Amino acid sequence: MEKQTHPHNTSGEEFSDNEGCVYENDSYESILDGVYSNEYIYDSEMTIQNKYQTKHEVNHVNVDDSRYGVYRRPMKVGSKRFSYNHLSKDKPGIQKKGQEDNYHAEDRKAKRMDWNDYQRLDVIHSFLDELEYDYPSICTVGTIGLSREDRNLKILKVSNSDAHNPAVWLDAGIHAREWIAPAVATYIANHIVRNFSSLPSSITNKDWYFHPVVNPDGYEYSHTVDRMWRKNKAYIGGKLVGVDLNRNFSYGWGGKGSSETPTSVFYRGPEPFSEPESCAVRDVLLYSGIPFKVYITLHSYGQIILFPFAYKDELCPDYVRLLEGATVMSKAIHESSGNTYKVGLSRDVMYGAAGTSNDFSYGVAKIPYCYLLELRSKKHKFRLPKEEIEETGNEILSCIKALMEFIDEKSATEKTE
Ligand SMILES: [Zn+2]
Repeated sequence: MEKQTHPHNTSGEEFSDNEGCVYENDSYESILDGVYSNEYIYDSEMTIQNKYQTKHEVNHVNVDDSRYGVYRRPMKVGSKRFSYNHLSKDKPGIQKKGQEDNYHAEDRKAKRMDWNDYQRLDVIHSFLDELEYDYPSICTVGTIGLSREDRNLKILKVSNSDAHNPAVWLDAGIHAREWIAPAVATYIANHIVRNFSSLPSSITNKDWYFHPVVNPDGYEYSHTVDRMWRKNKAYIGGKLVGVDLNRNFSYGWGGKGSSETPTSVFYRGPEPFSEPESCAVRDVLLYSGIPFKVYITLHSYGQIILFPFAYKDELCPDYVRLLEGATVMSKAIHESSGNTYKVGLSRDVMYGAAGTSNDFSYGVAKIPYCYLLELRSKKHKFRLPKEEIEETGNEILSCIKALMEFIDEKSATEKTE
């Protein structure tokens, strides 16, 4: 992967450096300054006017973790926001919010999912509904918010309803043009749901949460207008700029590997969690009470398995365990397809990135196992041929299965120690 040193670019150019950029002159200290400066620490109940609001956002923020600059938007009065209670095991009926993709049995023939091609959002969302329809005892579909353009942020929960299950979060499509990521997320969901009764306990003893298209507006835009679009569809002054959602999370927000320039493909937004798409993910990870043990986020391209931190050089306290897990995953991929996936820290094997969902999941949401997977391929970059979708799905399925086994073995060992 070539190094991208000039991030100030609109979407037209095909970036090889898909996750971040290298600001050679920034010192490590300046990153820390950025993270802990007053700029990102909000007083309780502080009100911030946000000129980038859309109609479903609110105009002030509350604070509940000033150390990390984490805050949440209160519910807009009268809005029907997703309630996490609906995700609980006893109440399987998650609120179904969107009009455009609510599932009707008669639509089934028209919108059939397959992995022979890259599918549009409506097909992917109908597919989630179809799984719930076909497997109501283990599947629940819900909406965790709305995008900038009011598309549903849709998730699928798969669970055997055992109250002891830890939870796994798997998301994809935070970057619009990385089409293989939603394809693989749905491939894995499909496999787990349809084979649930014959899968090993390391899979079935977890509650699975799939969010296959984190950035639905950008995803559709990359299908209809600009194949190389990466960001969401935030506007400034009526002009589409887009925020890089994977630079919009609070942990390390504003540091190296992100840009304050709206036209940059790495534009981090005017403040942490300025975007509804990143807020929706944060709210589930941080405020739902769901005991997430694993966070996996799928990207492309490069064939790399990354774990925290991406925003600073310091090794995270769980470095050895996370490295071990990543190695297990890489080995499983190699045994499955012969493909090689590199393993390591973002700064070592790629470049730094600040304000990412993966760092947030580990650093703020305190999820023990957090991984970012850069899928295939080095050769085709973002335009992975559709003929490779299933192969990629298979190798990543092997990788996820191996990780779940590793985690269960690790937990068993820790208990006996
Ligand atoms: Zn990406």
